[in-house]
Amino acid sequence: MIRDHFRILTVDLATGKGKIVTIDGRDTEAGGSGLAALLFNKYGHTDKPWNDPEQPLIFTIGPLTGYFPLMSKTVCGFKSPYHDQYGESHAGGRSALSLRFADLDGLVVTGKAGRLSCLSIGSRHLELMDVHYMRGIDLQRSGKMLRKMIGGAGHRSIFRIGPAGENLSAYACITVDTYRHFGRLGGGAVMGSKNLKAIAIQGDGVFDLPEGKEYAELFEEVHKQLTTTDMMDKYHNLGTPVNVAILNEIKALPIKNLQQTTDPNIKGITGETFADDTLLRNTACAGCPVGCIHIGFVREKFMEPNQYLYRQVSYDHEPIFATGSMLGVTNAFSVLSIIDMVEKMGLDVMSAGVALAWATEALDKGIISEKETLVPLKFDDAAGYKEAMQHLGLGSNDFYRILAQGTMKAAEQYGGKDFACVLGQEMGGYATGEVFFTSQVLGFRHSHLDTGGYSFDQKHEEKNVEEAVKFLVHDEQGRVFLTSMVACLFARAVYKDELLADCLNSLGYTTLADSMDQVAQHIQKLRWRLRLATGFDPAAVKIPKRFTEITTWKGSIDVKYLNTLKKEYAKRIVELGKKEKKEETKKAKKKATKGK
Ligand code: SF4
Repeated sequence: MIRDHFRILTVDLATGKGKIVTIDGRDTEAGGSGLAALLFNKYGHTDKPWNDPEQPLIFTIGPLTGYFPLMSKTVCGFKSPYHDQYGESHAGGRSALSLRFADLDGLVVTGKAGRLSCLSIGSRHLELMDVHYMRGIDLQRSGKMLRKMIGGAGHRSIFRIGPAGENLSAYACITVDTYRHFGRLGGGAVMGSKNLKAIAIQGDGVFDLPEGKEYAELFEEVHKQLTTTDMMDKYHNLGTPVNVAILNEIKALPIKNLQQTTDPNIKGITGETFADDTLLRNTACAGCPVGCIHIGFVREKFMEPNQYLYRQVSYDHEPIFATGSMLGVTNAFSVLSIIDMVEKMGLDVMSAGVALAWATEALDKGIISEKETLVPLKFDDAAGYKEAMQHLGLGSNDFYRILAQGTMKAAEQYGGKDFACVLGQEMGGYATGEVFFTSQVLGFRHSHLDTGGYSFDQKHEEKNVEEAVKFLVHDEQGRVFLTSMVACLFARAVYKDELLADCLNSLGYTTLADSMDQVAQHIQKLRWRLRLATGFDPAAVKIPKRFTEITTWKGSIDVKYLNTLKKEYAKRIVELGKKEKKEETKKAKKKATKGK
């Protein structure tokens, strides 16, 4: 039943043709992050720019997808418009299961379509459809049109971009099935550069589950741990927005472009308030019994009196921080109305919110004027931010076009680099201290989820550079194996090494189960090697002054500690990115073939 190779669909948009290729590496690159790196190594061009038509846009799933719950993510690998280096973004929804049911471990899209197109694939079909009439159409309208056009349901997944992707914003996202996103690093612009408005994956095949008791019993055990213990409760109940009040309490919530880390008026946007006032329902990625996706509502008045339109908007901690606290907006419905506009434009919400926070401070300081912002941006002015989000997505003038390439790009042009809250890309919603800032600025994806730096900060008052760097390297390694399995990282407390090995063994991936540590190390190194080969220089990375001016529960930021951490972690990354010695590769291969 299991395959010892990967089954990949490659599609050339220039010809509209595709083919199935089989690629070795199941026991060394595993799937997900490892497979995406393997495929970029094979199809990518380190020396060509991100928007060269030959560059691949890669989607991969893992060996446990479809067999165990919460193995629900798809990894998207591409050369990023944000920094022109190799990057990854992850999303759930129905994406992973639809690929599994289409009998694919991965999809590689190269070339550029002649006209704006939608790629539709399944286990038995491939079609490139002309959708030029969807140009400029926002994500809500295109979603309705695509669902009608493509039909199907259940195991069907649709990836699509909005105006921001078509306008090649460096932080345009790819929206998956409405409520999930390949959010960070600009995958949406890669689709835009390929003239690809959407990808529809029909999971129209079937696959067998293992026979016998072992698999069935293990599945039940995993399911039980996920649903009857308290390990996942917080994600279902208030969800990640529970963090808003907690971080505010410990002075670690980025507020008003990180001019503050706590605010007595935060109650209006805490997880509790969202749940009490705005929550309509919970929903889940396919194959997930937890259901952490919280859907609230926004209400718009029609022209006729007393008639309203209700729209459903999903919320998490990150969108709340980016469009709420960071912009000084402390009303839950106002936050949802800004997120709603971000969704329509197809922007990464974190980057977009942080970019407008910088623009607000820049306007206040007189660095830019209303001639640039078109809207009198003011903290707490939700209506202004909604309008500005639209300008950002549409690229209404030179200012918004530059800002859509990254906050630091705009700051380089207009001034205000000191208060640009950029850590590799616009910051995540944690102002916990030195370890988190180091982990995001140097992290592989510049994501708050690359490592648990935010958690390390909250548990460690002592300043031990060696311990912190050791933690970052080791924690990344564990997470890289999980993302190669494509596990939802919220389930990391459940999917410990032993359970992962049991899951792999139950499906017959015994060699992989037996060499998880070596495989994790190998993938970690492979990803860094690609990142360095595409131009990343960890030693040159800078942390803007604003991050050194804040106060957290530990007191003022210790700049010397921060700089030493950054220097030492950068050194470790360079070591990780060195070509693996022949001896190590030999050992890994030997281990992988043993037991076959
Ligand atoms: S916990 Fe949430 S993000 Fe993770 S798989 Fe379930 S619904 Fe998706």
